[in-house]
Amino acid sequence: EEKETRKKREMGSYRAYEDHDYLFKLVLIGDSGVGKSNLLTRFSKNEFSLQSKPTIGVEFATRNIHVNNKIIKAQILIWISLILLHLRIWQERYVLLSIHFFQYRAITNAYYRGALGALLVYDVTRHVTFESIKKWLKELRNHTDDDIVVMLVGNKSDLRHLRAVSTEDGKAFAENENIYFMETSALESLNVENAFAEVLTQIYHLTRKKAL
Ligand code: GDP
Repeated sequence: EEKETRKKREMGSYRAYEDHDYLFKLVLIGDSGVGKSNLLTRFSKNEFSLQSKPTIGVEFATRNIHVNNKIIKAQILIWISLILLHLRIWQERYVLLSIHFFQYRAITNAYYRGALGALLVYDVTRHVTFESIKKWLKELRNHTDDDIVVMLVGNKSDLRHLRAVSTEDGKAFAENENIYFMETSALESLNVENAFAEVLTQIYHLTRKKAL
């Protein structure tokens, strides 16, 4: 009898611990300074910071959202992949990087492993960050399953006077690559919730379809 109650208690605590129906891993990728960190904190904590602090190592956050009465826990990661560093930096740090190359490769693999969705972020005021998207998409495709849900995100849409990439160009690229597209502002909290929710909802539908 005692054993039985203990078992029940354990099951109860297990249920209390599981605060979600689904757990989906998302990765946030894109050049440094495009606003990945701020998109993450805007979505997970509703916070924004004007200071730029480059991601060192991995940034990580979770948040639960509701889709069709199910609780979805989003587990979101940011990591700087060194493979894509500018060639000049690559040459300068060649010796250092070659020593660590295998560790970096292992971390890159771990970073992408199990990711069901990705937000590919560029800065609408810096055209170079839009040009980099091709490289990021390629790296993503090399490391993840074909059915990963990908959204192209043009961030900093609030900086209207500094815009260097048109909405049409973003949209055309996304259509061509068969991925989703949205413009956001982490500063003004514009479309951030929508972008994450759209990716998570699409993953949810895909997961349900696969389960049938
Ligand atoms: P990350 O390197 O991609 O993680 O970029 P950060 O999140 O650190 O942002 C880089 C800089 O851009 C910071 O100074 C932010 O305050 C700024 N920033 C990020 N998102 C926005 C945005 O939507 N609008 C504006 N105006 N600035 C932003």
